[in-house]
Amino acid sequence: MAPVPQDDEVAIDPTVPPSGPGCLDCEAAGGWWFHLRRCARCGHVGCCDSSPSQHASAHAYAARHPVVRSFEPGEDWFWDYVTEDYLDGPELAPPRYHPLEQPVPGPAGRVPDDWEEQLH
Ligand SMILES: [Zn+2]
Ligand SMILES: [Zn+2]
Repeated sequence: MAPVPQDDEVAIDPTVPPSGPGCLDCEAAGGWWFHLRRCARCGHVGCCDSSPSQHASAHAYAARHPVVRSFEPGEDWFWDYVTEDYLDGPELAPPRYHPLEQPVPGPAGRVPDDWEEQLH
């Protein structure tokens, strides 16, 4: 896949809160996810590249928002899809991760029994 074009705008806006507790696009489509990533520019919460639909990277390319931060409890790394490397970023607007009671994979009730076989 081609690198994300660099936007003229900043890649990280620490004032924007996350879009919600789960993958925005999976919620719309009735899908499920493994881990969650948060767009550091607009707060879009999407599913990771191991998830069936890979919505976080799809958003990064479509919106040209190249940096995500993990939305998993206990993880605080940023990833840049342009450099394909981790980077340091500022503290973002809370919440920093999805609700602890939310299962992984999630959401509750939509994860198939053979979910491990469906990971990328
Ligand atoms: Zn998703
Ligand atoms: Zn975004």
